[in-house]
Amino acid sequence: MNITEESFYILTDSLVKYFPQKAVVTALLPHGAPPNLAQRWCMCEGDRTLSARPKRPIIVSSVSGGKDGLAQTLWLVERYGADRVIVHHQVIPEQWPETFPYVQEACAVLGVRLVAQQVIYEHRPDTERGVRRLAICDVHSPDDIVPWGQPGVVAGVTDLALRRRWPPSPSVRFCTRYFKCAVLDAWIARNHDWLGSDVVVALGERAAESARRAKKMELWPRLRRKNWTAWNWLPVHQWSRREVFRKLRDWGLAPHPAYRHQGMSSRRMYDVDEEGGPRCSCRFCIYATRADVCHQAEMESNRTLLRRLIAVERATGRTWWTRGRAAVGLLAPALSTAQVQR
Ligand code: SF4
Repeated sequence: MNITEESFYILTDSLVKYFPQKAVVTALLPHGAPPNLAQRWCMCEGDRTLSARPKRPIIVSSVSGGKDGLAQTLWLVERYGADRVIVHHQVIPEQWPETFPYVQEACAVLGVRLVAQQVIYEHRPDTERGVRRLAICDVHSPDDIVPWGQPGVVAGVTDLALRRRWPPSPSVRFCTRYFKCAVLDAWIARNHDWLGSDVVVALGERAAESARRAKKMELWPRLRRKNWTAWNWLPVHQWSRREVFRKLRDWGLAPHPAYRHQGMSSRRMYDVDEEGGPRCSCRFCIYATRADVCHQAEMESNRTLLRRLIAVERATGRTWWTRGRAAVGLLAPALSTAQVQR
């Protein structure tokens, strides 16, 4: 095996931790020489190398850092080549702190371009929605992420819940609309000249996850404009959870550490053929089960966010989760468990 300067560059400690096999073999990926690291990690907006339209259509893979989006990206790279795939990652400050480095490193290992962006809003009580988009910021490092709780801006899901005086819920899921869909749609609209008249956006949604997702078509229009259309495509719609984890394993990629933080074992990931299990987008996601959030609450690094959720519950008079499941009920048991474990 030829170990090139490139492969030495990417053999950082964290890469070896998450991607023990691929960190070594990246230089040997079959899709031509990987671009240099500066090219690979540059953001598309303002990137002059992207001003010319590519010869073959690009597929935009929407990735939150979870297993489904990553498995989908691996499949796309296998099928179309790394040069035809762009990963779009919508950054939310309530996500796991490991998420952005994980996505960044996965893209570096795969030789896939990454666009990571965060939307921030400003409070506008005179508008119908109460907030107005202030900016979409490119994120190049964790230091670029605007944290929640900053005065004057609405940077995260908890900020918006406080502004709207209502936490998000499965029936009114404004968190996804404001912090994920809006960012990706804005990026597509801004880059459609370059992306072509039919923009394909791959989403890692699977039929087995829920009855709602099972009913979805595998291809449908996401955005229609005069001269172009963006399509949502679900390439892993029919995959099982086990197939998804196994795809990551085939590539030597460790799943996001959030799965293990929430109690998932290797056996459950790779051997047990069942659905469900923890999510890894926002910590304390509105869809998280009681067991998942109990695990999360026990982690000291999650307590600040847990206290933030409690503040939202106090200010809005509503529980963070539906059916009366409150964040406030998690804190005391988590603190006593932590004391016992010490
Ligand atoms: S991960 Fe959960 S809380 Fe976060 S935006 Fe998605 S649905 Fe909302």
